[in-house]
Amino acid sequence: MEHIGNTLRRSLGGIADWPLMVMISMLISSNQHAPDVERQRATMIIARVHLISLLFGLLTLLWTGIDALAFDAAIWQPLALCRIAASSGFIALAIFTRGISNIVQARIAIGLMFVIPTVFYAITYPFLAGAEVSGWSQAVFTGYALLPFVIVGGLGFLPITLKEGLACVVPLMVANYVVQILLVDNLNIYALLGIGWLLMLLALASTFAGMSQLQLIIELAKQASTDPLTKAFIRRFGQELLEAQFNVSERQGRPFSLAFADIDDFKSVNDQFGHDTGDKVLRQTTSHLQDNLRKSDILVRWGGEEFLLIMPDTDYAGAAQMIERLYDSGLGLRPDGAFLTLSIGVAERQADNSHTWEDLVASADARMYEAKKAGKNRFVGPEPTPAPEPATS
Ligand code: GH3
Ligand code: MG
Ligand code: MG
Repeated sequence: MEHIGNTLRRSLGGIADWPLMVMISMLISSNQHAPDVERQRATMIIARVHLISLLFGLLTLLWTGIDALAFDAAIWQPLALCRIAASSGFIALAIFTRGISNIVQARIAIGLMFVIPTVFYAITYPFLAGAEVSGWSQAVFTGYALLPFVIVGGLGFLPITLKEGLACVVPLMVANYVVQILLVDNLNIYALLGIGWLLMLLALASTFAGMSQLQLIIELAKQASTDPLTKAFIRRFGQELLEAQFNVSERQGRPFSLAFADIDDFKSVNDQFGHDTGDKVLRQTTSHLQDNLRKSDILVRWGGEEFLLIMPDTDYAGAAQMIERLYDSGLGLRPDGAFLTLSIGVAERQADNSHTWEDLVASADARMYEAKKAGKNRFVGPEPTPAPEPATS
């Protein structure tokens, strides 16, 4: 059991150390995807749907030549009309995908990419199945019968979640069954079951292929957004999260706190014990900070030994409580045996009447300097009364 768990963990969360359950849930649905993941995969999906629809727009039309060779005019001409309609649909999709950029539009594009050939199949296959085919035309007819397999295989090109894959595959499978059951004479239930089973296996395989592309995007986005030394978010990514969270809190009229923390006298650690030891102290500080944060809080390495704690839905009292807890539990020792301490400036959107996240960061930063000037190892907040003294020294 443990071996299976470890193998899964390595293969699913390998590069960026994701907890296994988090990774799995991100592959199942997009609820927990960070904005950069959604942006990345939207770009990739849209580019691929664009390419596929251009290709199919052309090929669907060109195939009319093969139909004309294989079937009588009474068959290939109506088919040609269907092909013109499907090809126009693909070209329209190619045009649509040139002007879109977000994940919701990307999902619509995937849906359309599935709807066009599914409708084409639902109309042309029963039409052909009623006709007499033999020899060369039998070969072409078989190509029509296999169209659902081609469509399902296309999922493997797209970085999708399991839910998105199922949303594409289930209607296609249903369409396939409805067409076969309602419209084809001499229904062979066993052949139908066999085809359905095969289609489902292929659908699963290509959905997994798509999910593994999604996994790579998630891993790379995580790597690009976290600092390799401390595993906290890097500043550029932190700014993006900050902006998004600030806007949410403003829209919903909820509190929103920031804490700007700077390690006290950190330079002397480097000077006395070397840069590697300094790095260790940075890692130790980050892990203490992480341990004291709630799940919804965000830790950003803002600069060398400066960190920004983003606390959505937290008023000043809540932030002060969290920081007092942090001071109480301590940040561990410096290499010289003294306590490692932080100076922290706290700002809260409503208390500070801030209208931009930049203002809020500037307030927290200014208060951090006040804390330094007042003797370090303390925090200063927006309240007019002096902030309570930290317990540990
Ligand atoms: P203060 O209490 O006023 O904040 O003093 P300080 O010594 O902490 O502040 P200062 O800004 O003078 O020094 C910060 C130091 O952090 C200087 C820089 O060499 C060090 N530093 C920045 N990034 C890293 C890093 O990634 N690793 C290590 N080891 N040191 C770093
Ligand atoms: Mg410092
Ligand atoms: Mg500093």
